[in-house]
Amino acid sequence: MTVEKQRFAVNGGIGFGSKLTGKQLLVLTSFMDEKDELELTTFQQLYIDIPQAKVDAALTAFEDAGLSVYPVGNFVKSLRTCNFCKGSEQEGMPVAKEINNRIAGRPMPFTVRAAYTGCAVGCGEPRTNDIGVMKIKETYSLYAGGKAKGIDAQLGQILIEGASPEKLYSAIDRVLDLYAAQGKKREPLSKFVDRYGIEAMRNLVAH
Ligand code: SF4
Repeated sequence: MTVEKQRFAVNGGIGFGSKLTGKQLLVLTSFMDEKDELELTTFQQLYIDIPQAKVDAALTAFEDAGLSVYPVGNFVKSLRTCNFCKGSEQEGMPVAKEINNRIAGRPMPFTVRAAYTGCAVGCGEPRTNDIGVMKIKETYSLYAGGKAKGIDAQLGQILIEGASPEKLYSAIDRVLDLYAAQGKKREPLSKFVDRYGIEAMRNLVAH
């Protein structure tokens, strides 16, 4: 008999590197049989398939272990980040956490990958993702429309520079609200930015 399963994306949340504790791994494996597999994605997430009857118990156990859990599919993914090598405050970890809280899991026409990096070295690869944030000194730059895959790969284009955290949050919200409302089904954000026009998008987030 086939056991119906539901897929979740999990990780250890935003911190110094994409890490899991032994306890978190043990909790994950407690909901797996010997032949079950965890899928490691390129986006600092693990995919785990949970039997439908155990979903509630698993979600409670994951939360207790400090795991973050996200839906899989056409949603905003959890924020990919750099390793904050120069320190939490200096590299804006609280801002990265706030962005993640605000946007991860929001339904979209197609999967949205958002990335954050704490300095211009850019270890979080913000310009090759749909939404990219780069902290430069005490302000933030926002990019949109990056695409890492395919022969039509492209860099995200600048939307705002020198922004405060509040201005940054507002700009990201506006971009995602627009895309959610006007993006075609399965139209990647990179294509939507090209179709809508980068100048029109800059005007949208300017005030
Ligand atoms: S982007 Fe900057 S702060 Fe973040 S890990 Fe790289 S060098 Fe360190």
